[in-house]
Amino acid sequence: MPGERKVKRNLYGRCAADTVERVTVAARAKGLTKTYGSGDAVVTALDGVDFDIVQGEFTAIMGPSGSGKSTLMHLMAALDTPTSGEVWLGDTAVGSLADTPLTKLRRERVGFVFQAFNLVPTLTARENIVLPLSIAGKPVDEEWFDRIVDVLGLRDRLTHKPSELSGGQQQRVACARALMNRPDIVFGDEPTGNLDSTSAAEVLTFLRRSVNEFNQTVVMLTHDAHAASYADRTVFLSDGRIVDELRNPSHSDLLRAMARLYPSPFTPQGPEADGIYRDGGSIPERRDDWLDDVETTAERSIARRALLD
Ligand code: ADP
Ligand code: MG
Repeated sequence: MPGERKVKRNLYGRCAADTVERVTVAARAKGLTKTYGSGDAVVTALDGVDFDIVQGEFTAIMGPSGSGKSTLMHLMAALDTPTSGEVWLGDTAVGSLADTPLTKLRRERVGFVFQAFNLVPTLTARENIVLPLSIAGKPVDEEWFDRIVDVLGLRDRLTHKPSELSGGQQQRVACARALMNRPDIVFGDEPTGNLDSTSAAEVLTFLRRSVNEFNQTVVMLTHDAHAASYADRTVFLSDGRIVDELRNPSHSDLLRAMARLYPSPFTPQGPEADGIYRDGGSIPERRDDWLDDVETTAERSIARRALLD
């Protein structure tokens, strides 16, 4: 069972000595496996993953499209059930819960931000932000609301409907909604995937601040090295397995790891890659294989469950 444990971690990347410190596990996956279909058509989306999310950390989960990022998140956020293996949120064994306590756990202990903002179009920004509390019939902590709204710069947008907001503003509303009930963990599935670089930086900066200033635990799925560079720790998935992990990597550390772990015709290798990465540039424009599908019907139904159930 999770709880406090001692881990050996290298706080300063590859250069400094390992440090032993006490951390709290916010969520744990043990032997997590998820298969879809059967017989010849079986797809192993997740293959025996052991993974701890550390409380108060910003964790990025990286991997190309189809590597199992969303599946891992859906299982760890109690949105879906594994084929085998177990998930704990804090000390709660998620698999042991019946539907009603499961819905309650999701509503009260987990916050979500998706690639598609999933705001309710007929509600104002304020109404969208407090929606999880309205659904749960809980009062709004106005002090907390004010703090979040001010950090996100949404003060003068609260009476606007989503259609009257830019993409960046809509995603900031979604971030505020995710934090409103002070969840144990905020999960973001490609939260900057639909944003221009300026809006993406705002959202990433907010997620970073929520860890630094509110001690929020954040887990973000991304295929973008720039987004992952805001995190404390990046875990790399490939074909449903965790294949590597970096602590406090720079943008170029992440690009180098991606080139090594996910070789592809579009990812430069060897000396060519070194030249590019030393200059601090990014991988070339053609990254078709990295682009996740835009929102699918399945993702929409998962988002509904996460946000409105
Ligand atoms: P990622 O988020 O990294 O793109 P996913 O977790 O969405 O990856 O998918 C992992 C694998 O599982 C892919 O091969 C995908 O096609 C498959 N998969 C995901 N969801 C389903 C589903 N509902 N039915 C069948 N296959 C699925
Ligand atoms: Mg995905």
